[in-house]
Amino acid sequence: ALQATLLRHSYGGNEVLHGVSLAVQRGEVVAVTGPSGSGKSTLLHLLGGLDRPGSGEVYWGGTRADTLDTQARARLRATSVGLVFQHHYLLADLNVLDNLRVPGLLLRQELTEHARELLAAVGLSGREKAMPGQLSGGERQRVALARALVASPAILLADEPTGSLDTANAQAVSTLMLELARQTGAGVLLVTHDEGVSRRADRNLHLLDGEVVREG
Ligand code: ATP
Ligand code: MG
Repeated sequence: ALQATLLRHSYGGNEVLHGVSLAVQRGEVVAVTGPSGSGKSTLLHLLGGLDRPGSGEVYWGGTRADTLDTQARARLRATSVGLVFQHHYLLADLNVLDNLRVPGLLLRQELTEHARELLAAVGLSGREKAMPGQLSGGERQRVALARALVASPAILLADEPTGSLDTANAQAVSTLMLELARQTGAGVLLVTHDEGVSRRADRNLHLLDGEVVREG
């Protein structure tokens, strides 16, 4: 469902990804590990279409994504990949439910019912009208997770989604994420330093200096 071939990427002439290829299928969980600076976030940005690779190709459900224009890419992204980061990136001026409606605006689809279902699934029914600033860190991250899944993407891309949470909240959010992915049949590619999480993955990809050095 998500495929990348020979991705290379440079910042200001300094190449930090040296030809990474991978595929993630619906229903599988792949953990990405590797030291700081090895290129994990850069890789996820390319896979999520937030940045274009210097060379190589990214496919979402068989469609070449990295060469689409920005508008077409944004629309296709909504149903192809959901993104969660260490920071929640919720819109501070919109309440919880309206944050979850944003992907629907882009798709011109009414996703409110699904948004409510997902809020219930992440344990936040009744908090629809709350503003992000009124939520705890763990609650905000659960809203971000619900938003990432509201358009039913084939693949969830997560970059240290629990990195800013304490152990108990991190555990709760990781478990929810894997559980929701299983329920919706989405694939997951997740950057994590949490060994408990990478052990629960179907596969591990280890990045070192911009290359996949271990897979299994
Ligand atoms: P961490 O575990 O600390 O999050 P990472 O594996 O996610 O690290 P990246 O953020 O992908 O690593 O960075 C890979 C390399 O690219 C690093 O050497 C970093 O300094 C460099 N880099 C990342 N983003 C930029 C940028 N916007 N401009 C210049 N260099 C960058
Ligand atoms: Mg990173």
